[in-house]
Amino acid sequence: MAASTETDWVSRFADDVIAESERRAPGKTVVVASGLSPSGPIHLGNLREVMTPHLVADEIRRRGYQVRHLISFDDFDRYRKVPNGVPGVDASWAEHIGKPLTSVPAPAGSAYPNWAEHFKAQIVASLAELGVEYDPISQTEQYTSGAYREQVLHAMQHRREIDEILAQYRTKKAPAKQQQKPLDEAEVAAAEGSGAAAEDDGSGSGAEYYPYKPFCAECGKDFTTVTAYDDETTEMTYTCTCGHGETVLLREFDRGKLVWKVDWPMRWAYEGVVFEPSGVDHSSPGSSFQVGGQIVGPIFGGKQPIGPMYAFVGISGMAKMSSSKGGVPVPADALRIMEPQILRWLYARRRPNQSFKIAFDQEIQRLYDEWDALTRKVEEGAALPADQAAYSRAVGTAAGELPRTPRPLPYRTLASVADITAGAEQQTLRILSELDPERPIATLDEVRPRLDRAEAWITTQVPAEQRTVVRAEPDEGRLAALDDAGRGALKLLLDGLASHWSLDGLTTLVYAVPKVQAGLEPDAKPTPELKVAQRAFFALLYELLVGRDTGPRLPTLLLAVGQDRVRTLLGAPAA
Ligand SMILES: [Zn+2]
Repeated sequence: MAASTETDWVSRFADDVIAESERRAPGKTVVVASGLSPSGPIHLGNLREVMTPHLVADEIRRRGYQVRHLISFDDFDRYRKVPNGVPGVDASWAEHIGKPLTSVPAPAGSAYPNWAEHFKAQIVASLAELGVEYDPISQTEQYTSGAYREQVLHAMQHRREIDEILAQYRTKKAPAKQQQKPLDEAEVAAAEGSGAAAEDDGSGSGAEYYPYKPFCAECGKDFTTVTAYDDETTEMTYTCTCGHGETVLLREFDRGKLVWKVDWPMRWAYEGVVFEPSGVDHSSPGSSFQVGGQIVGPIFGGKQPIGPMYAFVGISGMAKMSSSKGGVPVPADALRIMEPQILRWLYARRRPNQSFKIAFDQEIQRLYDEWDALTRKVEEGAALPADQAAYSRAVGTAAGELPRTPRPLPYRTLASVADITAGAEQQTLRILSELDPERPIATLDEVRPRLDRAEAWITTQVPAEQRTVVRAEPDEGRLAALDDAGRGALKLLLDGLASHWSLDGLTTLVYAVPKVQAGLEPDAKPTPELKVAQRAFFALLYELLVGRDTGPRLPTLLLAVGQDRVRTLLGAPAA
């Protein structure tokens, strides 16, 4: 791909990141990073933490550079609280508060060895589906293997300098609890972000400052206080609220970690991170991103990454009933109702500082229409450069295209069919093959996985009272009460049914019936009176077919109900 600059935000960041990486270390692999805290279900709102660097890394890779996207799993963070509504977890998990997330038991029934691994596995599966290529880093592994030992000793040695830098910000108002407008659930989830955000910066009350927190050897928790440290010997003494206390050699001790505001800049320097965006909770004044920028150079000899702030991602209309993972949607919930391309597109087409919503409600049908229209434009070569760029970032990565639905029938049509058939395969195949008799589909595989997503949307997000139920028996009372006009309209429809039995044919037919009745040509321009007549006719059809005055688009509904049953429900004499 050409090194296209200025076409979209991804390209612009890629330009900046490549230039910065070349300034720092010419010819070296470009490093971008994300951090995720598996302190509970990793919410859909947090996906921006990964998608923003992913898209930039992918653009850099497409331009032929070596690039690493690190995803740092903050699984050595302390277990702060028991999240609500997680299956297999009850109040007894509170006894583990203060332990590293990798030392907390997984929810009951989990296939994973601990809390962090359980929740990591969910996001790992979704990232694979989304085509995100990355290097996972476990902070538990890093710390307990001693990978950061030099950095830890170095930070302890320079604790007074660190304390002075942090002190400049302590006098300012704490940013984490700043006033915020009321947020919906998912936004709150995004704001909570990395569990590390809420962690203190290691300031002891009155005592000397230490940027390091050990987990107690006795109880495994971090209710510990460092009481003495010897720079020469690295002897560190700590006490714990459980009563335990001991003196260890920090150069041999791996059961603790740097406090968040020191840990983050340490990792920027350690990994050479050039790009790492953060949520608003991390990038406000006095935040860990800003403070980290003051620490990374003087203390660790590194540089702060390019770090744009990304805005909240909201969720519109997710049905409460469908959330199986703790009351807030996770990426897997979105991927059940939309293809990965669509989810990628939502992130690619909005600049990180623009907030947007992910639709779980009726809006998803409009979103898919927009996507299909864009696809057509791209195929015709008529898309605007920025739209074209977002499209190509959505459909694949430098590694290739994501699997796509071979025959992408309109999502709203598939949803209507799924609504009416309740997923019955034979009926679904029959209806879908009648949509376009010239080019019938032969097997449902042609319309998968989009069909599966539309079915999942209908079954998990559309409330029962909005579902379509085709009448089992004709509404004899309503049929008997029809006036001549009504009876005439039904006859015109029934007479044309067989010869118009396709999506296009039936669309023409249902609009033509009121025109013909009014003595107009079938292709006459609609007048206001005609529109009234059409609305009345459509309402009559809905009433006779599904017992309500609205429903899926009529041509789709008629195909779904099937010719014989349409004839019966519309009162045609038995053939
Ligand atoms: Zn203890």
